[in-house]
Amino acid sequence: FGSKNKKQSEDYNFVFEDQIEFIKGQVMGGENADRKTLPVYPYRESLLQAIEDHQVLVIVGETGSGKTTQIPQYLHEAGYTKRGMIGCTQPRRVAAMSVAARVSQEMGIKLGHEVGYSIRFEDCTSDKTVLKYMTDGMLLREFLGEPDLASYSVVMVDEAHERTLSTDILFGLVKGTVSIHWFDPFILLFFQDIARFRPDLKLLISSATLDAEKFSDYFDSAPIFKIPGRRFPVEINYTKAPEADYLDAAIVTALQIHVTQPPGDGDILVFLTGQEEIETAEEILKHRTRGLGSKIAELIICPIYANLPTELQAKIFEPTPEGARKVVLATNIAETSLTIDGIKYVIDPGFVKMKSYNPRTGMESLLITPISKASANQRAGRSGRTGPGKCFRLYTAYNYFNDLDDNTVPEIQRTNLANVVLSLKSLGIHDLLNFDFMDPPPAEALLKALELLFALSALNKHGELTKVGRKMAEFPLDPMLSKMIVASDKYKCSDEIISIAAMLSIGSSIFYRPKDKQVHADNARLNFHMGNVGDHIALLKVYSSWKETNFSTQWCYENYIQVRSMKRARDIRDQLEGLLERVEIELVSNPGDLEAIKKSITSGYFPHSARMQKNGSYRTVKHPQTVYIHPSSGLAQVLPRWVVYHELVLTTKEYMRQVSELKPEWLVEIAPHYYQLKDVEDLASKKMPRGEGRASKD
Ligand code: ADP
Ligand code: MG
Repeated sequence: FGSKNKKQSEDYNFVFEDQIEFIKGQVMGGENADRKTLPVYPYRESLLQAIEDHQVLVIVGETGSGKTTQIPQYLHEAGYTKRGMIGCTQPRRVAAMSVAARVSQEMGIKLGHEVGYSIRFEDCTSDKTVLKYMTDGMLLREFLGEPDLASYSVVMVDEAHERTLSTDILFGLVKGTVSIHWFDPFILLFFQDIARFRPDLKLLISSATLDAEKFSDYFDSAPIFKIPGRRFPVEINYTKAPEADYLDAAIVTALQIHVTQPPGDGDILVFLTGQEEIETAEEILKHRTRGLGSKIAELIICPIYANLPTELQAKIFEPTPEGARKVVLATNIAETSLTIDGIKYVIDPGFVKMKSYNPRTGMESLLITPISKASANQRAGRSGRTGPGKCFRLYTAYNYFNDLDDNTVPEIQRTNLANVVLSLKSLGIHDLLNFDFMDPPPAEALLKALELLFALSALNKHGELTKVGRKMAEFPLDPMLSKMIVASDKYKCSDEIISIAAMLSIGSSIFYRPKDKQVHADNARLNFHMGNVGDHIALLKVYSSWKETNFSTQWCYENYIQVRSMKRARDIRDQLEGLLERVEIELVSNPGDLEAIKKSITSGYFPHSARMQKNGSYRTVKHPQTVYIHPSSGLAQVLPRWVVYHELVLTTKEYMRQVSELKPEWLVEIAPHYYQLKDVEDLASKKMPRGEGRASKD
């Protein structure tokens, strides 16, 4: 980065462009500000009164005003927890864990006792728990078991402005729970609502943005309670010209602030798009500050992203030591979910990693996309919480005004709905086209979800839940993954399949590759791929080998495997094992029969099949599209003729990740309703040795 950088720092000129509107307030205390100094505190009594008076209340307040940490405590102090728990949903796992930790600390009790959290595959609550922070997805799952939410006295759907898929579905469901639709023409729905009707359940919708009218309208004109924020002036700066490399520009800007501004005048918050990018930035920052030696103040680098280990998460909240400066490298989680005190400078490259979905092909991908204006303003606002702040936008004013959308499209309109449709169906909600969505998903996406669930035999041709579908709905997994598990019953390999499912669900990488030991790491990895067994079986081998060593940490080190990821896989696997029992699938092990294991995988993933083409690329069988085997796959050099893949990721190309070889006749055998012989027409040529890269007939 050496020479290029130096030049860039020199001509890195920001132009002062614009100011956002401000209301000046007092300077708040810093870290661990007393509960009574938070903006929500003066409104404690009137807020409790409003909650008493109304069943549904929309609460709006700037990030950091104390909504998430204080309101549940107020309700507890006011006695609401005598009637049931207070559930507070968060769109992100890290936020649920972090605020629960904070609240238990404020109340002086042990996390998991009166205050706990519940996120997928991790339940940190007990019989004592009365304040429960949870992901919105978890509350949605609880709905399946308890459609009247009987254990709750108050449900607070927090961060409502994020409009995640689960939040949107919860809206529809809780709306049904708090109000009866007398006019509903569907007798079934009618009875169902009566059964779920809870006149005593309080529903709070809280949001950090001002467009609360929409929530209010949706909940039959529910009143809006505004918590006036304290906002300091935030100076907005844009770059003169678009930046080719925003990561580099962000690093240069952070260093520029650090060396030109006195230490102790405020910390820096940089918005990046994901773990990998954050780790890269961390490395570069460390490298470059090392070069500057003792000439500059200490720069403490704090990463924060969804899969950051819990014990490291607390670091971002630690007060910055005197004479040093903190730079927080965060994903979108710091936009509104987490409040970090002491931030004076925000660096906003203007991007976010977002799911996008093509309902025509049914393909979902994570894409780095430009943020919306609403997002940009939230980000900027993070710098003006405790004093006047500055925001450096790494894009031009022209970009901001002309290219950015006003608001982020709600997730429900850009995602695969199969999971949600399965959940709703198992709740007995059949008429999805008339479900009371705040913003309806595209009809095409709904149909696509129904089609997939039908193909997976979760629904029959009348759209009703089948026995298979009912079992699948028990698993907190994507339908294809749960189908793979349910199918393992037939192939007598449920033991192996839940290990694979757990390994696929970790969400963080399993192998690591230290810079100075890349060859060793690669060799260790290749061991698990011996015999070109494919990535799924390799994952199974990793898990089984670890288990054989009695879950040894040393073994992980020796094999360049992340211990933490493996422990998580073990936890997930334990839970899946429990769920197997619930759906009456016997735990059967059949480690030698790789064909049975791969057939189970194919039973869930047959829609993800692809055939090799002349040039080593692949073509997906249904909805043809050109894709490639991800370079990290054990089959990247092998190039089998037919493969089944776990997911597609779009980086420089559309890549298949976690790939296994497949025999085309399995497709017709396993999914005769989905594939016909003509789809797999080069059956005749299957005698060809595999991996030859021979041209296909068409
Ligand atoms: P809101 O939900 O309105 O955005 P919060 O209740 O999250 O506000 O935050 C209120 C205050 O609590 C803020 O000053 C914030 O810095 C502090 N806080 C929240 N979570 C933590 C934490 N995990 N550690 C330390 N301070 C925290
Ligand atoms: Mg909050």
